Amino acid sequence: MIYPIYVYGQPVLRQVAAEIGPDYPNLQQLIADMFETMKVSDGIGLAAPQIGLSIRLFVVDTTSASDDDPQLKDFRKAFINAKILERWGEKEVYNEGCLSIPGIREDVVRESTIRIQYYDENFQLHEEVYDGFRARVIQHEYDHIEGILFIDRISPLRRKLLKSKLLNISKGEVEANYKIKALK
Ligand code: ZN
Repeated sequence: MIYPIYVYGQPVLRQVAAEIGPDYPNLQQLIADMFETMKVSDGIGLAAPQIGLSIRLFVVDTTSASDDDPQLKDFRKAFINAKILERWGEKEVYNEGCLSIPGIREDVVRESTIRIQYYDENFQLHEEVYDGFRARVIQHEYDHIEGILFIDRISPLRRKLLKSKLLNISKGEVEANYKIKALK
């Protein structure tokens, strides 16, 4: 099933999401649907709040973006109850976008390297270190389960300049090549 993407203005995007257990109803189906929704929306990451569920689950799939980085070739994973334990390294700038904020891209500064603990879809616990683009994608998705959006990480002036665009998005007045769900 393809879910519509909840866009800026939806309160669920601002909630700190709750942990889930292995008994979460239809979890395997939900994860499969999130991968599918992400793919048809041309996304490389999708967090559960973006489909209206305030739970600590996100998926990433950079396999389509792997042309210039072999590390991305098989980076396709579900992260459950993730916890970023540590962030370090160079502060790097990257022009980020978000399925929940269609049509807007902004430079965002993030640490280059992270250590993360999470459960996979079989509820096996992992602790891994990521850097480069994979760390970038994970940190963006992790923000979603904390109720944070990338526009929170840009300068107040840049944010002010986006105000009317964001207002339009919250009303659903925006072009996207996937189905969106605005507040009104
Ligand atoms: Zn996003």
